[in-house]
Amino acid sequence: GKYVYNFHEGGRDMAGLLGGKGANLAEMARMGLPVPPGFTVTTEACRVFLATGEPPPELERQVSEHLAVMERAAGRRLGQVDAPLLVSVRSGARFSMPGMMETILDIGLNDLSVLGLAKALGRERFAWDSYRRLVQMFGSTVMGVDSARFESVLAGIKKQHHADDDTQLDTCDLIRLVQMYQDLILEETGEAFPQDPAEQLRRATLAVFTSWNGERARIYRRREHIADDLGTAVNIQAMVFGNLGPDSGSGVAFTRDPATGQPGIYGDYLPNAQGEDVVAGIRDTVPLQELEHLDPASFARLRDCMAQLEAHYRDLCDIEFTIERATLWMLQTRVGKRTSQAAFAIAGQLVDEGLITPQEGLARVDGEGLARLMFPRFDSSGTREVLARGIPASPGAAVGAVVFDSAEAVRRSAEGEKVVLVRQETTPDDLPGMIAAEAVLTSRGGKTSHAAVVARGMGKVCVCGAGELTVDPQGRSFSTPSVTVREGDVVSVDGSEGLVFLGAVPLVDSPVMRYFEDGGHPPGESATQVVRDVHRVMGQADEARRMEVRANADTPEDAARARRFGAQGIGLCRTEHMFLGDRRSLVEAMILAHDDEEREAALNALLPLQRADFIGILEAMDGLPVTIRLLDPPLHEFLPDLTELSVRVARDEALGRQPDLHETELLAAVTRMHEANPMLGLRGVRLGLVVPGLVAMQVRAVAEAVVARKRAGGDPQAEIMVPLVDAVEEFRLVRAEVARVLERVSAGTGVALGCPVGTMIELPRAALTAGSIAEDAEFFSLGTNDLTQTTWGFSRDDVEAAFFSAYLDKGIFQTSPFETIDREGVGRLVEIAVAEGRATRPGLNIGVCGEHGGDPQSVHFFHDTGLDYVSCSPFRVPVARLEAGRAAL
Ligand code: ADP
Ligand code: MG
Ligand code: MG
Repeated sequence: GKYVYNFHEGGRDMAGLLGGKGANLAEMARMGLPVPPGFTVTTEACRVFLATGEPPPELERQVSEHLAVMERAAGRRLGQVDAPLLVSVRSGARFSMPGMMETILDIGLNDLSVLGLAKALGRERFAWDSYRRLVQMFGSTVMGVDSARFESVLAGIKKQHHADDDTQLDTCDLIRLVQMYQDLILEETGEAFPQDPAEQLRRATLAVFTSWNGERARIYRRREHIADDLGTAVNIQAMVFGNLGPDSGSGVAFTRDPATGQPGIYGDYLPNAQGEDVVAGIRDTVPLQELEHLDPASFARLRDCMAQLEAHYRDLCDIEFTIERATLWMLQTRVGKRTSQAAFAIAGQLVDEGLITPQEGLARVDGEGLARLMFPRFDSSGTREVLARGIPASPGAAVGAVVFDSAEAVRRSAEGEKVVLVRQETTPDDLPGMIAAEAVLTSRGGKTSHAAVVARGMGKVCVCGAGELTVDPQGRSFSTPSVTVREGDVVSVDGSEGLVFLGAVPLVDSPVMRYFEDGGHPPGESATQVVRDVHRVMGQADEARRMEVRANADTPEDAARARRFGAQGIGLCRTEHMFLGDRRSLVEAMILAHDDEEREAALNALLPLQRADFIGILEAMDGLPVTIRLLDPPLHEFLPDLTELSVRVARDEALGRQPDLHETELLAAVTRMHEANPMLGLRGVRLGLVVPGLVAMQVRAVAEAVVARKRAGGDPQAEIMVPLVDAVEEFRLVRAEVARVLERVSAGTGVALGCPVGTMIELPRAALTAGSIAEDAEFFSLGTNDLTQTTWGFSRDDVEAAFFSAYLDKGIFQTSPFETIDREGVGRLVEIAVAEGRATRPGLNIGVCGEHGGDPQSVHFFHDTGLDYVSCSPFRVPVARLEAGRAAL
């Protein structure tokens, strides 16, 4: 097979094979932009290596052939003694994983070619600095020497010379350093640093392959739901040097502001530096605009390249470039990560500019981004003590206790504490801590530093480059000129403004949340830009989508909010919530009833309360469907806890107190009702069939609420839903009772009710027999929570804490099946239920009311499956509307 592609053979549509970096390098080369020559080893080769432990046998020859072409064009050979060609060996997977895998620069240097490089470029110090970087990088990433060992050798030399900075070391120091590094490698590995350039190249390539399974790469993939079996490509590319003097440098650029979406030139530039120094935040960068003064010709060339890229990709691009002695080289581009606010803004701008269609604009935003825009902001009306200002790198408001390393962040957050990770700068090793933290705060680095890029990608709050802060990780504190903040102290981080406050600043609704709370009306003159951008996209989504969106709501307040957020009805009204609070004693009385009379009295007391609830909900959702589910949970949930009650009774007995009759009786009932696995016990339709009068009371409350609303001139659209049906026979029995009650109320009041009666499909048997259930059920609602539990045999409360993280680690699934629907298993049952239900009853109305109704990926599945609606929590309604629109594109 073909495992190596020259840049001129590839293109952006080949990212699966060439990785994102390789595909885009190829695309830029093809566009005629200045890209240092190179070629890409495919992800296919990596997959072979990961599967067998060996690279494909043809690989070495194919690499040599492509290298030879490169060498001929350059007129130099890899590692050639008098004037070496040097290459970088760069990782690059299908989906961008910034800084998570390895890249090795300056391959081809050895004890001889370092002299040749010095001579050819007339820069002795530079050559030795490059060599010591190679030995260090190769020693740690390829040969496995702990990078801290190199750091401490370096620190030792710096100390001898009273140097605070690498730049203060002279050529002699660097020569000594290379020797010491080589000695270290030999000592640690028993093997010398390889002098053969071909061997360096081969081993570096395999090290990049191996880094696909490095710990931080795995953590990142899990967090971003990237599959573990894709593998990485390897890009082998001629080196260009940004550290050859003041007319050289490296930088990162965005074609629009990735924080706000504003068009313009954004980025960071570091004169006289290699590109890795920019991202590492080791030295402070200057804003890219400065380049206009430093090197106007290169700046103009860069602007031109950026304009070409944006027009070509029709999207925000981010770019890595290097200037070598006033010549611009493009080293990377990709469609850039951006904040949610920027995503909405850019989608709108590009539509206005005619670069993309409104449908494409809709495709470029997503539900998770919208959800983030709905998060609260800090209240700016009170007095707040500003600790520090930094760069607003990733927006949002976060409050948490300060921690200074990744492990502490992970430890505290596992205990439920909210933390803010404070570092001088982050490295990929901080990833677990960044995931655990609410916010990341650094004292160094710009908008393109590791912290900023990773936080933005994860939607995590980040302020970086807060230069007033002195971070002391050993002392576990940071200080400003006036205050010292210690580990555990609470701070507030505003990633939208780039501010850090002492203490917990109160939160207020975001403008986008206010917009939805106000009913999603067209924004007026004074509305902020982000609200306009969101409004516009929501309009497009509503126009595009086929599915309706309902909400799960149990109270009139929730129903009203859901409606303001755009819900087209209630897909799940859980009546058990009406049994809680001060009504518990009535429910208790119903359960403890000795005879029909007592039970009826208890039910009669509940009736007016439920009726009033239903009236409120039907009023809030006037004219829209409200699906009311009959009582579902097992009765013990309404009784006191068994252990607690036993202890109380035992204590009374021990104290020789007169046994409280009620308590003894209660204990007997609780013991009787206690279920080892309540998920599979006496609940759902089974309750209705076993507890006399329960269904009748609930249906009567619904029916009388409908009557009351109709008499008040309303348009109530109640639907009655039976939970946890396994067999059509169960449904038939309950349905007969429902029908009797509806008829009785209708006859008694003279009001026609028209309440459809349907069922939940939430057990595998129901899905498999949906064809016969549909003979009697007038609608289906897929209860995908219980369907997931029962299909997998997972008791949700038991499995999540016990072993889900192990399952995610082992790649059994990428996401919890409770979060995103499992298409192959649970999804298959959904498909069967839909197909067979509609075969019996054409046009059968089918929705979903599990948590999955608000999950973006699941919404796309439900669209594809042909559901009529999804129902989710009120706050997720806008997300579901947006995703249902995107699914229909
Ligand atoms: P990452 O995926 O972590 O961004 P890269 O492969 O982009 O890793 O490499 C990191 C940096 O190394 C680049 O931003 C660039 O500045 C520098 N680099 C990579 N290849 C070259 C090259 N051929 N010439 C000069 N610098 C390079
Ligand atoms: Mg890069
Ligand atoms: Mg259920």
